[in-house]
Amino acid sequence: MNDTRKYLPQALVIEKDIVNTPLYKIIRAKFKNCEIEVVDRASTRNDVKSGKRNILILARQRGPFLRMCPGTKRHICCLYYNLDIAQGCNLSCSYCILQGYIENSQVTFYCNLDDMYKELDLKLENSRRFYRIGTGELSDSLTFDEITQYGPGLVSYFADKSNAILELKTKSCEIKNLRDLKHNRRTVVSWSLNSEIIAAREESHAPTIKERLLAAKEIQSYGYRLGFHFDPMIYYDDWESDYRRVVDMLFSTIRPENIAWISLGALRYPIAFDQVIRDNYPDTDIVRGELLPGIDLKMRYFQPLRIALFSSMYKWIESYSKDVFVYLCMESDAVWRKAFGWSPGRNAVLAKLLDDRVKN
Ligand code: SF4
Repeated sequence: MNDTRKYLPQALVIEKDIVNTPLYKIIRAKFKNCEIEVVDRASTRNDVKSGKRNILILARQRGPFLRMCPGTKRHICCLYYNLDIAQGCNLSCSYCILQGYIENSQVTFYCNLDDMYKELDLKLENSRRFYRIGTGELSDSLTFDEITQYGPGLVSYFADKSNAILELKTKSCEIKNLRDLKHNRRTVVSWSLNSEIIAAREESHAPTIKERLLAAKEIQSYGYRLGFHFDPMIYYDDWESDYRRVVDMLFSTIRPENIAWISLGALRYPIAFDQVIRDNYPDTDIVRGELLPGIDLKMRYFQPLRIALFSSMYKWIESYSKDVFVYLCMESDAVWRKAFGWSPGRNAVLAKLLDDRVKN
């Protein structure tokens, strides 16, 4: 990783009641020279007194760590659980939904991990259902792992769970902490992919697609299952040749039998978020596409464009392997049928298909 991608906060805001946690001590030791401000309770909109803006907040998670993905109205959802251990990200993707409600320059790490593991124990020990749980909703799962070391603890925790699997979703190459762990194939390490040109333009602080795939290849050699998420796919003139090329790169790097799933999703965001992207990324073209408000009041590409994106990807992936499970994120039954020729029809059916990929 080159230095421009290295995360270096200008200041730390620390909540008083986490200073005795082991994670606080680990992180504090890494940023010995940072200005610090100790507060009773941090707010994600807090600026430190100095007015510095690149702030790392070390806080207590006061709400539940585990939340079911809210999905989106009248679309098929995979019944996924998010584990909120961090909030904010240093990769600055132009389409990132986080910029709608978190200061771009602020990152929060939750340090009360004992509470998190207690909550997970309670949930998993008292339930007969299967859980797919990921940390990549409010942050990138691995981009900060060198600092937080969240990865090894979580991978080890899930290694002996029979009714749950952990998914670490990332665009980063921060995988060295995952080496030599006893994971028992209970962790799926997933990469978000895009066409190379979109990655360069819209995910400019993240590693290139080639770098991500090389990291995925390394993770494959550690015996983990892998996932890939082409999300958000962007519609532009050369999308067909560019996305096809990434599918080719993927299958020339990763063995299909190690892929737990591949998801596809097209650009979508709440209507009010349109202006936030325009303000933060005035040069981006993504908001100038053929986007219309959908039934869930999110801006989406006109349905035939989404079907064209998904059906082509499905066909290209199938040409490499018919056994790789491909699914759509937040799409309607009609789009599933038109793009793939079938649909799970209901949330529970899609969830079971995904669970079955990783249960054994
Ligand atoms: S990697 Fe994910 S969380 Fe980070 S900026 Fe990009 S979209 Fe947002």
